[in-house]
Amino acid sequence: MAKPKVGFYDITGCQGCLLSVIFNEDEILDIINAVDIKEFRFIMGEKYDGPLDIAFIEGAVVSKEDLEMVKRLRERSKVVVALGTCACHGNIPSLRSFNEKNIEYLKYDKKNEKQKDFGEPSPIIKHINVEYCVSGCPPDREEVKRFIKEILLGKTFYNYQDPVCRECKLNENGCLLDHDKICLGPLIKGGCRAVCPTSGLECYGCRGLIDDASFEDYFKLMKEKGIDPVMVKKHMETFAGIEINEKLKGTKWEKLH
Ligand code: SF4
Ligand code: SF4
Ligand code: SF4
Repeated sequence: MAKPKVGFYDITGCQGCLLSVIFNEDEILDIINAVDIKEFRFIMGEKYDGPLDIAFIEGAVVSKEDLEMVKRLRERSKVVVALGTCACHGNIPSLRSFNEKNIEYLKYDKKNEKQKDFGEPSPIIKHINVEYCVSGCPPDREEVKRFIKEILLGKTFYNYQDPVCRECKLNENGCLLDHDKICLGPLIKGGCRAVCPTSGLECYGCRGLIDDASFEDYFKLMKEKGIDPVMVKKHMETFAGIEINEKLKGTKWEKLH
């Protein structure tokens, strides 16, 4: 049986997602043996413009060039995987849509030649249909490994659906909310093994919202703790701001800045 043709690509991002594939050091050799890698600039120089079985794409769409590239990859590929938070949720590149007035350096983005006539930065999934989103900034290495194995075995990959709190509890951590920290664990999909709270850091939401995220309960809890709701909203916008602002449309938190 012919090996699946696979390509790894990046538009505007930091390459951290592609590194999360490479850094599966032991497994990368198995992956290379199991597939026909047609393009992956970290490990080979060749360019390829033919059909693909699977295209992994890292990064957010911030320019015409990015948009053309993702559209072209969509046309050429049976399966497209949005890899990482930039590709799935917009992440840091989309921050300027909400925080420009507060973060001085983000204004310089708009003076960039490639970006100045383009709209706001946005995730790949706003422009093309993708078969899978593997979120995370960077994605969890173990999840990337599981994803690639399951896809190569012809299985369907399912994203983890429970909140980060579930894995946090399994890790027997104390709760950061008890220390008045803005931890988004109750609102955000896990699958990262609750790596941030397990290291004593708040969850900033890099894997996107669970289906039934309750903003009402979360803002109420923050209010009881005396935490400024503007701070809470800014925290929420860090990684998945586009998705969160869409959910908050029409609510009393929509214009909170
Ligand atoms: S998701 Fe994070 S690691 Fe991946 S490209 Fe974006 S900023 Fe880099
Ligand atoms: S620390 Fe965060 S992730 Fe862990 S239980 Fe508390 S709110 Fe949930
Ligand atoms: S704990 Fe939150 S911010 Fe940290 S990796 Fe998991 S989802 Fe992302």
